[in-house]
Amino acid sequence: MLNRELLEQQLSELPLYQYAFMKSEDLVFTERVRHICRTECSMYGTTWACPPAVGTVEQCREACLAYPDFLMISTVTEVPDIENLEQTLATRRDHEAVTRQVAQLMRDQGCELRVLSTESCAICGRCAYPDGPCRHPELMFPCVESQGILVTDLAEKCGMEFFNGNIVTWFSVLLYR
Ligand code: SF4
Repeated sequence: MLNRELLEQQLSELPLYQYAFMKSEDLVFTERVRHICRTECSMYGTTWACPPAVGTVEQCREACLAYPDFLMISTVTEVPDIENLEQTLATRRDHEAVTRQVAQLMRDQGCELRVLSTESCAICGRCAYPDGPCRHPELMFPCVESQGILVTDLAEKCGMEFFNGNIVTWFSVLLYR
């Protein structure tokens, strides 16, 4: 059983912007998000972290709901120009590192996790998909939207802020049991 007080104390020492604990039954999975992936995202079908490799929305829903609770975390970073992809993606690496730290803290307490994070996976220069299996399944986090979850809606439900302009906001969802 997660000692939330201990975890919150540890979270306060990490560069997080906000976090929220919620019940997984409050997650909304929709085909509408999958349609956006398919029709509007250039990463669709290019990594193991994105659809269709992650499975159908129903399969993702079942996999997520096997974990009754989740912790949502966010980081925010101001960049000089949000259109500068290199700068923006650099903030994402930092967010992924914080997500790994939080996951480790939860595992140290004996939790089993399913971790969802930002956009597609960029660990390898070129993803092994579809020719071979994922090279780093222990490090790879499927993207939140890949599961059919609209991250901005979820952030609102969790009472977490989402910024525009030159402030990059990243979210991760750590489902646990
Ligand atoms: S770790 Fe590498 S092989 Fe696995 S999803 Fe990420 S980029 Fe692809």
